[in-house]
Amino acid sequence: MAFNLEKLLRPHIANIKPYSSARDEYSGKAGIFLDANENPFGSMASGSFNRYPDPYQLDIKQKLAEVKNVFANQIFLGNGSDEAIDLLMRAFCIPGQDNIILLPPTYGMYEVSAGINDIEIQKVNLTEDYQLRPDAILEAVNESTKIIFICSPNNPSGNKVNRKDIYQVLDNFNGLLVVDEAYIDFSDEPSFTTELEKYPNLLVMQTFSKAWGLASLRIGMAFASEKIIKILNLIKPPYNISGLTQEKVLEALENADAIHQVVKDTFVERQFLEAEVSKFPFLKKIFPSHANFILIKVDGARAIYEFLIEQTIIIRDRSKVVLCEDCLRVSVGTREENEAFLKALNLFKP
Ligand SMILES: *Cc1c(COP(=O)(O)O)cnc(C)c1O
Repeated sequence: MAFNLEKLLRPHIANIKPYSSARDEYSGKAGIFLDANENPFGSMASGSFNRYPDPYQLDIKQKLAEVKNVFANQIFLGNGSDEAIDLLMRAFCIPGQDNIILLPPTYGMYEVSAGINDIEIQKVNLTEDYQLRPDAILEAVNESTKIIFICSPNNPSGNKVNRKDIYQVLDNFNGLLVVDEAYIDFSDEPSFTTELEKYPNLLVMQTFSKAWGLASLRIGMAFASEKIIKILNLIKPPYNISGLTQEKVLEALENADAIHQVVKDTFVERQFLEAEVSKFPFLKKIFPSHANFILIKVDGARAIYEFLIEQTIIIRDRSKVVLCEDCLRVSVGTREENEAFLKALNLFKP
């Protein structure tokens, strides 16, 4: 009973010949490039975008490796984390046969992606306070279970997941364990990237969409063993990260320290929101958050949500989600935005 990547991989993937792009066959930077049918005269937009971008984003990975304290060959970059989620299912899960385990309430894309790929889902709900039930998770594992998705800090609840429970699953599961750390920058919890050397069955996802403030660029990170990264590189579309995105992400990485201020500001605003929201009579509970949003339990969630929409304040109604009855999710805004939200909330008459 040990982790065996070759066995986990869908057999036909092992035999795939990758598309060999022009930039694969010659990756030097100097020269006269007449190999990719590009427009040599220039772009129809300002800036220089007429050449295909680096398919493996090596400049970013070199810098990111320093920032994240991993090796560059342990990094995969995708068109949003969503691309990594989809590629993992396509690499490891045979449609109509294999299954993944999800731990509701959790991020919705895992289920959507599994649905698109015709992968069966097994659900093991979190506890009332949104922690793992590691024994129940491991009991749900069968020989067709390929991936387990853990989200920490969890979306939509905002809490961090107990580390010892994650280790229990890691230590006893021979498939791939994905720890989605989209909100890790807002948490005092260390990343699981430190465990990559020890656990070949671990993949950690992070994103540039949240603390880095680059949601529009669409770029997500996956950290795993070099072997797993090679598989993702094999099946991804050749130029999945645009040149413009690569330029901007490099710029952000040069400015990586600025994240500390964002995290501090978010923390201050989150505390402000929590303090102010708790004054409303319809407020039943604020769940502790390690992210840039809060989950609140209220009387009349749907009515509040719809009232706020009328005031053009848009939050997320999670009241139909399992274990989130009467719950609303509110992203932390700027002080101005938070005050506008609170002002609108003040006008609500149950
Ligand atoms: C926002 C979010 C992501 C990020 O997705 P991108 O495709 O990288 O924008 C990933 N996981 C969770 C849990 C999220 O909330």
